[in-house]
Amino acid sequence: MLSSKSYKITTAPTCPHCGVKMKKMEPPAFTIGDGLGWGVRYMWVCFNDECSFFVDGWEHMRVNYGKTASYRYMCLPDNGESGAICVLSYDGLKGQIIEEDSE
Ligand SMILES: [Zn+2]
Repeated sequence: MLSSKSYKITTAPTCPHCGVKMKKMEPPAFTIGDGLGWGVRYMWVCFNDECSFFVDGWEHMRVNYGKTASYRYMCLPDNGESGAICVLSYDGLKGQIIEEDSE
């Protein structure tokens, strides 16, 4: 694992879908040990409930998978790679947010 000092994205990026500043989040425990561990100390996630990516996700998951779930836009700080992280409710993953004192 790389030191977080060498991460490419160390300040909150803006979500390309809604323009809101993304939040720092601790990677959820369930992703560790599944062979696809994130390998990062934290990740950037858009927690805006009005984000089009998140809003459209509910419909997409219902239509394509018959599931009540959605996903939030996320980006990895070490290499800048972006993707989606699945959530089952509006509050999903919110307990993982790392609040930062300085703005
Ligand atoms: Zn967004």
